[in-house]
Amino acid sequence: MEDRVKFEDLTVSQRIWLLNRLSADARQFRERLTWKGFLTKEQLMGLEQIMESTSTQTPSRVDDPNTPLFLALDRASKASGKNACLHINGFRFLRAGDDSKNPKHIYVLYSSQYLGKIYGRKIQLRWNSHLVWSVDDKLIGEIPHIIQNPIGYALQSGADYGICAGCGKHLPDGQLIGKSCAARFGWEVSQEEFGAAVATSQN
Ligand SMILES: [Zn+2]
Repeated sequence: MEDRVKFEDLTVSQRIWLLNRLSADARQFRERLTWKGFLTKEQLMGLEQIMESTSTQTPSRVDDPNTPLFLALDRASKASGKNACLHINGFRFLRAGDDSKNPKHIYVLYSSQYLGKIYGRKIQLRWNSHLVWSVDDKLIGEIPHIIQNPIGYALQSGADYGICAGCGKHLPDGQLIGKSCAARFGWEVSQEEFGAAVATSQN
C-alpha cells in the first residue's frame, strides 16, 4: 500500500528524531511503528510538523544541511522573498540561492569579503586566503557553535557589537536584536531579552 510509510522509508533525521525524543508525541509514533509496522501519510505529515516546530534539535549528520542556522536563514528568506543574511561577530552568513552553484550552502563573509562556505556542519574556509589568517582564531572557532545556536549568538553579538544580527543596523542601547528582524527569523525573543532599552525608556 502506497499509503504505508515504514521505518526504513523515513529519512535519517526522522529516524534519529523518533529514536531519541522522549516526548509523548515521539513515543506515540514509535509505538505505532512497533505495533502496526508503518505510519500513514497523514501521520508522517504530523511527524514532520512536530519536527519542524522543534527544529532546534541537533542534525543527525555532519552533512545534513538543515542545521539551526540554515533553517533560520531559510525561514527569513521565505519571509522576505530574498536570500537572508545574519550579521554575527563581524561575520555575515548568507543563504546561497537555490539556483546558485551551491544550493543549501551558507556563504561566510568577513568585512564584506568572501571567507568560505558552510554545508551542514562542514565549514570550508579558504585557508589559502590571507583573509582567513587575519580573522581572530577565537571568532573562527565560534562558527560551529553559531551553526547550532544562531539565536543565542545573534543576541550575544547584538550585545557585544551593538548591531542587529538581522539587518546589520546599529541598535538602540541595551537592545539585542530588532523586533521585526527577530520575527523574520522565526525567533520569539522575550521582553527580558530585549533588555534594558525597554525598561530605561519607561523610566
Ligand atoms: Zn534588524
